[in-house]
Amino acid sequence: MFSVEEIITLNGTLEYRKDLVTGLSCRINAERIKRRIDQAPTLVFSSDGCPFCPGQVETVTPVFPEGTRIVHGESVTFPNLFPFARWHTVTVITREHVVERFTPGQIEDALHGQIDSLLLREGYGSINWNFLPSSGASLAHPHLQGLVDTRPPERVLRVMEGGKHFRQKHGVSYWTHFCEEEKETERYLFGDNIVWIAHAVPVGEKEVLGVLPCATLEEFGDLVPEFARGLLTLIDLYQAMGTYAFNMAVFFAPSRRDRDFRTFCSLIARINPNSTSLSDSSFMERLHLEPLILTSPEDLGRFYQREKENLKR
Ligand SMILES: [Zn+2]
Repeated sequence: MFSVEEIITLNGTLEYRKDLVTGLSCRINAERIKRRIDQAPTLVFSSDGCPFCPGQVETVTPVFPEGTRIVHGESVTFPNLFPFARWHTVTVITREHVVERFTPGQIEDALHGQIDSLLLREGYGSINWNFLPSSGASLAHPHLQGLVDTRPPERVLRVMEGGKHFRQKHGVSYWTHFCEEEKETERYLFGDNIVWIAHAVPVGEKEVLGVLPCATLEEFGDLVPEFARGLLTLIDLYQAMGTYAFNMAVFFAPSRRDRDFRTFCSLIARINPNSTSLSDSSFMERLHLEPLILTSPEDLGRFYQREKENLKR
């Protein structure tokens, strides 16, 4: 389901990989990790003036048309003041401004806040998370962002169209086949119901795909506890590898009309917050649209197998 081309250079080898279903490609050079540009994180973020801290979040954040915000446990959900989708909501996950270890309950409550807010509109929904400023989060205070649009995001479109061709050619669902195949490889991490896999053609560093047995936001509700535990295990895995910042997106279909659509989660590790504004995105990611990957998906799978007893949630 993907192609690998090994390239021999003057200084070692690298791989060009291409996902044959989505057409997305990347380059992997595991040698580059030896440059050790990612250092221990700077995790001191001032809460001065933070609109998501207790005392502020209940007063300065916007409200839904009924004049209310959605509250689940300690999470608070409201419309985004500066939307970049037709429907764009924010869920502040915790009362704490800086969190080093989330509890499953905190993540579950925040996801339910997102689901409730996104079900207020029809369309292609997604639940997203930029964690820590080096991942693109403009506020350090942990928060999720939900989007609903009438058209699917580019990545979902590629999976849907590639999946349609796959069904025509092979007569089976792309996702079902993908999970069956990947479970037999060293990229398989864990899970039977929600299947977590180190992505063979990562869109970002240490990408993990979670494939869920559902399609819509309504159906996701029942899977939230299992999903939250899986996600926290992966956040622990990243931390065991020395990386704290990440991006996450979970994609949903508007309805069950497309029988092959599967909700999927993409999680990538980002460079740790650092004092020199060093970035992990360069001309390769931003202009060539071909991510440069330092951790091979197979190494990520092997690292998980070695560490899994220490990562139980
Ligand atoms: Zn705060």
